[in-house]
Amino acid sequence: MRRFKSILSRFLSADVLLWVYPLVLIAPNIGLDITETYPLFVKILNVLLPAGVYLLLTALSPLTGRTVVLALPLTVLAAFQVVLLFLYGESIIAVDMFLNVVTTNVSEATELLGNLTGAIFTVIGLYLTTLVWGIVLWSRRCRVAASNLKVARRSASGLLTAALVAYVVCLTAVPQFRLVRDIFPLNVVRNMWTAVERTRATEAYAETSAAFDYHPTATRPDSVRQVYVLVVGETSRADNWQLLGSPRPTNPHLSRRSNLVVYPYALTESNTTHKSVPLMLSHVTAETFNDSIYSTKSIVSAFGQAGFNTAWLSNQARNRSFIEFFAREADSTLYISDDRRAHYDTDLVEPLRRIIEADTTGRLFVVLHTYGGHFNYVDRYPAEAARFKPDHAFAADASERNILLNAFDNTVCFTDSLLDAVIGTVERAGGLGAVLYCSDHGEDIYDDPRGRFLHASPVPTYYQLHVPMLIWMSDGLRASCPELYANAQRNSGKQVSSSRDIFDTMLSLAGLETPYADSRNDLTSARYTEHPRIYLTDHNEAVPLKSAGLRQYDFDFLARKNISAE
Ligand SMILES: [Zn+2]
Repeated sequence: MRRFKSILSRFLSADVLLWVYPLVLIAPNIGLDITETYPLFVKILNVLLPAGVYLLLTALSPLTGRTVVLALPLTVLAAFQVVLLFLYGESIIAVDMFLNVVTTNVSEATELLGNLTGAIFTVIGLYLTTLVWGIVLWSRRCRVAASNLKVARRSASGLLTAALVAYVVCLTAVPQFRLVRDIFPLNVVRNMWTAVERTRATEAYAETSAAFDYHPTATRPDSVRQVYVLVVGETSRADNWQLLGSPRPTNPHLSRRSNLVVYPYALTESNTTHKSVPLMLSHVTAETFNDSIYSTKSIVSAFGQAGFNTAWLSNQARNRSFIEFFAREADSTLYISDDRRAHYDTDLVEPLRRIIEADTTGRLFVVLHTYGGHFNYVDRYPAEAARFKPDHAFAADASERNILLNAFDNTVCFTDSLLDAVIGTVERAGGLGAVLYCSDHGEDIYDDPRGRFLHASPVPTYYQLHVPMLIWMSDGLRASCPELYANAQRNSGKQVSSSRDIFDTMLSLAGLETPYADSRNDLTSARYTEHPRIYLTDHNEAVPLKSAGLRQYDFDFLARKNISAE
């Protein structure tokens, strides 16, 4: 027993921790070297530099336990990064991930974490063990032998010298190499700082956007009743829509509707809600997002400034960011989840009916922000609405894919019945009416060997970008403006960008003109023009879609769906 204790205390000594702690810290660097397509010398530097610094840091004092405890922020960063590698299989912690923590409601966050239990236990276990080890050694004032400390410092110097050589090679041979962008954890610290800056800019939004005016003009006569509804979908994907080619009957209502135009080739330019929805709801494009979003108001203001009665009905939680700010622009705003009860999207129909009924201006614009097909899928529709079964997966796991797909298809069916009810409500109002629906982004559901799940990953996939989009026009609108419907149909075969086109198309459906409108983005215009495919990156840069990190699976799927990647 004494012998065992002696072996154990030697094994768990400060001398061992001195070497183990740097190894634990560079685990994410090794992971990133495997998952990322860095040039060879960047990969070498990505290990040598942090390894040298970590070893030198750990060897600064003989009290290794104390060093490990004080270096807790490094441990946390490494653990967080390893969790993300488990989750997405690639990429450093993105700016958007830090922002998602601020803008995602608690239940969404815990849904995500619930599925990561295995990864979290594995990773936290690894890092927590090291931390506890450090605490115990510090409390016992355990010291590293002077000779061991000297070897560690010399090894660190060797690593840093080799890192310096790799650094010089990177500087001279790797185009656009930047230490703070390419080396973990410098790049993640930089992303954290960017997130702080964006949060500050977002907090100042009320002042920076106060003076913005769309200077709109309403061109339709006041004598005719007008009701226009923009339904912002959440996490739905075109492939699962019967109207867009799914072999499953997921659109039993809409497939019987007339006056409907669908857009099979629509891609979003962002896979995150907090960027995709502002792009859809404002004249800002991926190219101008970073410079203009903080000083812009939304389409709600464009309608309001044109004399429309405006309303925002949401089944999402308040997000303390642009989407909530846009909602505040409306004459009336209702977050049905403010009562802290779970709601289905169809709970938005009755408030919509009441608003239409109570409207005395004759000119009404309503945004419905739905919860669509956001995970957990089975929570988005009542059990009796489940058309495809079984739909209750035991775990978020590739082996349960068919069950998850059943549940996801049920959310599409439920959105189908919601849109049918919304269209019916607008139809009954008479006069000129239109409903435009589009999902903010799609979703991964273990669709290929990458095993990806959910959305908002640092690098997008085909499944996160191909979104369902459709327009319905009332008989009155078709009769009054036949060219709108004819052009909408003619443009349905075009390569559409939901992020760029919804603002202009919605204004045009309502006959609004503004100096900010661009008919080349208007799907109801004969001047509609296809644009090159772009993607808004984590650093708010608009890059060609081909440079957004898509893999061959994605390009294959785009080609199969006749969607241009250029
Ligand atoms: Zn979303």
